[in-house]
Amino acid sequence: MYDGSPRRDELAARLATVRERIDRACDAAGRSAEDVTLIAVTKFFPASDVAILAELGVHDVGENRDQEASAKVDELPPEVRDRLTVHFVGQLQSNKAGHVARYADVVQSVDRPKIARALDRAAAAADRRLEVLLQVDLSGAAGRGGVAPEAARALADEVAESEALRLRGVMAVAPLGEDPAPAFERLAGVAHAIREGHPDADWMSAGMSGDLEQAVAAGATHLRVGSAILGSRPLAR
Ligand SMILES: *Cc1c(COP(=O)(O)O)cnc(C)c1O
Repeated sequence: MYDGSPRRDELAARLATVRERIDRACDAAGRSAEDVTLIAVTKFFPASDVAILAELGVHDVGENRDQEASAKVDELPPEVRDRLTVHFVGQLQSNKAGHVARYADVVQSVDRPKIARALDRAAAAADRRLEVLLQVDLSGAAGRGGVAPEAARALADEVAESEALRLRGVMAVAPLGEDPAPAFERLAGVAHAIREGHPDADWMSAGMSGDLEQAVAAGATHLRVGSAILGSRPLAR
């Protein structure tokens, strides 16, 4: 008689495969897997999946849409929520930023001063502190979100001076249709430049289901993995 949960078994199996990939990539790069944090990106999937992943030892989850994320976080039992770090990884508008500041622990997608100021005000008003990554545009083709690499240093200085935000580093998505390895090396260069002025800002969030190996090789400290753990998402919404 089978009395387990099929969804739990499925998530456990995929999670094990992803952890093996990370271990192998770390071995190849001469890095310790302990220095790499796996963030399960749970967008489009229910709070029950988040709860299962938490039970399976995942401590970090990522979401990219404000409404979906806040509803999901609210739905989690408090004892599950309290053990998780919630990362917001989606594009932000300044009118939404205040809302995100109420439930996210880390905001990875700060790409302009206006967003930083909106997050800072809202977090301070809610008596919360937020960890912040600057999203860097590696495509060179404005529009997909992200600060231009050459403007990242000034934005870092601005975030570092805010009251309720703590600058932790950088984040990027590899450009479509380009080899991710050199793109992640460019991100590592931006991360390095920012660390010269802000030594604590040592996080580099890069790498998704399809390119986590290249991200580990370039020095990523945080991987954002969705479909390789949760399964494929509905195409567009
Ligand atoms: C959805 C998403 C991911 C995860 O993508 P997968 O290819 O499913 O692993 C990572 N980062 C961001 C910003 C995302 O929106």
